Amino acid sequence: MRIYLDYAATTPTDPRVVEAMRPYFTDRFGNASSVHTFGQEARAAVDRARRTLAEALGCEPSEVVFTSGATEADNWAVVGVAFAHESRGRHLVVSSVEHRAVLEPARWLAERGWEVTFLPVDRYGRVDPDDVRRALRDDTVLVSVMHANNEVGTVQPVAEVARIAREMGVLVHTDATQTFGALPVRVDELGVDLLSASAHKRYGPKGVGFLYVRRGTRIEPLLRGGAHERGRRAGTENVPGIVGFGKAVELALAAREAEQARLSGLRDRLVRGLLAVEGAFLNGHPTERLPNNAHLSFEGVESESLLLALDLRGLAASSGSACTAGSLEPSHVLRAMGLPPERAAGALRLTLGRWTTEAEVDAAVEWVREAVAELRRASPTWRRAHSATHS
Ligand SMILES: *Cc1c(COP(=O)(O)O)cnc(C)c1O
Repeated sequence: MRIYLDYAATTPTDPRVVEAMRPYFTDRFGNASSVHTFGQEARAAVDRARRTLAEALGCEPSEVVFTSGATEADNWAVVGVAFAHESRGRHLVVSSVEHRAVLEPARWLAERGWEVTFLPVDRYGRVDPDDVRRALRDDTVLVSVMHANNEVGTVQPVAEVARIAREMGVLVHTDATQTFGALPVRVDELGVDLLSASAHKRYGPKGVGFLYVRRGTRIEPLLRGGAHERGRRAGTENVPGIVGFGKAVELALAAREAEQARLSGLRDRLVRGLLAVEGAFLNGHPTERLPNNAHLSFEGVESESLLLALDLRGLAASSGSACTAGSLEPSHVLRAMGLPPERAAGALRLTLGRWTTEAEVDAAVEWVREAVAELRRASPTWRRAHSATHS
């Protein structure tokens, strides 16, 4: 038996999504910019998907701009807004737990004359809206705070942050990649001007996403060389990908509430089982968290060794973000939360999804228990500290 509990890294494409995409690789292969019937068919399919996504977000279809994924959408939001508003100011406010697709463009700008304030978070990984208020200046042009964190699952108070920023006339971006299609994501309720999402985190294909850009928001294009997407993002549209994204979101929304109730039930079962292990701690917010995210630390264990031991047993998990995998540095998110180094070193993220069953959760608990015990037996420091209780 192989068990996949890494749905925050990527999801399998739902077979119904694959079916919806199939004709757009073969019979309806047209370029959506062509005037002939092949082109018009492709154009109609792209527009249909755009309407589905706009309806989900509660916005106009023209406010949805397709990209190659959330990395591009995040980069574009930060760099595009900064460049379009240079004459007004060169200050950005970004949370310290953002995905690197937001953090690194912000750092890149900081090396080129922009000033960036990185907002702290509390021990649960949450931004304090009062810190946003204190960070805002006359020359601030953008605030970027993600909707939910991809590592520890903490949901941010985006609506409150946005209200404060917009009172000051500052644009607000949120990376909703982990929440779009899972939690309610309506741009007016959140009060944001820009929002990123990606298909492959919601049972759609890899390589397609969008940036929601509120009407009237000034933003410089990143990609030039064509009039696609109303001149905002050049490049032939990924028609099958866009069709798949539309279908994936349609399916996710139809089942959203029941699915989130099911997942949070399984998540709680998983967390309960794992917290019964000695020296185990839950990371992230106890209640304000993604329904499918369990993030724990096991003292006396190294994440990388644990992941390998779990993979040998057949369980696919993660130490945090896919981007920090392979490095022994604690993630920037755990560091920002102030986790003690030995706890950050033993982090394990398990994320559940559409095909996760109770039997899989129970097997995962058993395998983590076994793997943790095995690694601790091999650890002289753990054995020395616990020899009294395990003689
Ligand atoms: C996965 C992820 C991204 C990157 O999305 P891609 O479409 O894979 O480029 C960005 N932000 C968050 C929060 C993510 O989870």
